[in-house]
Amino acid sequence: MVSASGKYREIRKALADAGAFDAAFEAREIIREYTGSTPELLDELDEEQIRAVDNAVDRRLGGEPLQYIFGKWEFYGYPFYVGKGVLIPRPETELLVDIAVKQLSEGGRAIDLFSGSGCVPVSIALKTSAQCYAVELYDEAFGYLERNIVLNSAEVTAVKGNAFDGSLLGDMTFDVITANPPYLTSSEMRGIMKELTFEPGTALFGGEDGLDAYRRFIPVWADRVKVGGIMAAETGETQGAAVSAIMSAAGFSVSVIKDHSGMDRVVVGKK
Ligand code: GLN
Repeated sequence: MVSASGKYREIRKALADAGAFDAAFEAREIIREYTGSTPELLDELDEEQIRAVDNAVDRRLGGEPLQYIFGKWEFYGYPFYVGKGVLIPRPETELLVDIAVKQLSEGGRAIDLFSGSGCVPVSIALKTSAQCYAVELYDEAFGYLERNIVLNSAEVTAVKGNAFDGSLLGDMTFDVITANPPYLTSSEMRGIMKELTFEPGTALFGGEDGLDAYRRFIPVWADRVKVGGIMAAETGETQGAAVSAIMSAAGFSVSVIKDHSGMDRVVVGKK
């Protein structure tokens, strides 16, 4: 047995010494994850809890993201399994869901490309009555997509395929196409934090200028958006103008939506 407050202080210090961005938050989350309580309300940790906490802290000190250590993370208020081979859901991506949900207030049909964990299409399916599809190419990520659909009892059809293949699902058309493609540039990839090296490069790296995926998927899916429908793509904070140009060239009227930090985050093209 060890006192909860003592253990909390010990791991907060270890995380802070290792340069964690918010050691207090991480220390509390780790204690909560493995005890079901918080350091303030808990007296002691038993042997099993200590082992679990210590193991998590060791992995965290090795740079592994907290989300992979817990194996689960929340997005849009829903739980998602995450781990090696799948991008961790980011809070700023919730904006993409907000945009899709607004457009689908009367239902309709939606497809999400580069789905990864499925956080976007699952959230859309749970918030609307739209018929939802999700496209993911890679085996590991596809496994998470399927498990997250089941975990949330969401009605989403998972399609294992390449988002650059514009002939997926025949000539079906959509009210909304969402995408959070890989968009980091070569220079951003060289500077990434240790945590990001645990995530799949295929979900992060978008070529020299970060725009390769947009150049490929936007033209091939443009005709699959119904008149009055939208395509909405998450972008990096400096990519709003460049992605807007690609979408306009594909026949959309375009607007750029900023995230809560005031950065370009989603380019929306209306058909
Ligand atoms: N937003 C992610 C990051 O900065 C990148 C995700 C992506 O490339 N789609 O880590």
